[in-house]
Amino acid sequence: MKRSKFRNRVVLAVGAHPDDVEFLMAGTLALLHRKGCRIFIATVCTGDMGSTRLRSQEIASIRFREAEKAASILDAPYVCLGESDLHLVFENTTRFKAVELVRRVNPDIVITHSPEDYMIDHQLTADLMWDACFNAPIPNYVTNHANPAKPTGRIPFLFYADAIGGRNRFGEKVQVGFYVDISSTIRVKERMLAQHRSQREWLRAQHGIDEYILQMRRWARERGSEAGRKYAEAFRQHRGHPFPEENILASILGSLCIIP
Ligand SMILES: [Zn+2]
Repeated sequence: MKRSKFRNRVVLAVGAHPDDVEFLMAGTLALLHRKGCRIFIATVCTGDMGSTRLRSQEIASIRFREAEKAASILDAPYVCLGESDLHLVFENTTRFKAVELVRRVNPDIVITHSPEDYMIDHQLTADLMWDACFNAPIPNYVTNHANPAKPTGRIPFLFYADAIGGRNRFGEKVQVGFYVDISSTIRVKERMLAQHRSQREWLRAQHGIDEYILQMRRWARERGSEAGRKYAEAFRQHRGHPFPEENILASILGSLCIIP
């Protein structure tokens, strides 16, 4: 691996549910991992609605192990903030958890959901992470945790992944800030997604085909064709005050980053 000045940069990827990070950003995370960045993966919710036959506790623990396995492909620790799917609310307890996450990981870069998406857990996760990145350096922002982490030294670079299907709740297209060419990591993305066996097998039984993987590939190909590459993921950067505005992903990934 080529030594790079971005080696050991810390990237925190946060999805609402186990498998969201793999669907939306794993190709880019794999590229960042190759560049020597350290990857952390988190979900806000446990994925406890992800089964029609298992009780929520059972499916949540299965999905925790699946997410851990997927993260381990990028040598990434996986943590879950423990919220229940579809019960997530934006209030101080969840805000404190999100700030503790940012303070503990102390990331240079945070990547999360699009604030405009098809469902509320995704949108609230985007809001929670935006809020947590802002609050984490503020010393007087106390989280009431038993063993609180230290405030961070700065606000990280914040990026939003694609909305599911690239569309918001009205079915309108969400603006793309830039694409990342993931042609060289699509297989890693596929391998990470395949660790979520409980979800893959359920869809495979429903559709009679491996819809879980095929859907991911179709979407990556569509984003790729927009970017003039084989496979791509789409992102947008949070450039509102006081977040850093330079596109650090473009600096790390060079020509793999395509700005339309
Ligand atoms: Zn989700």
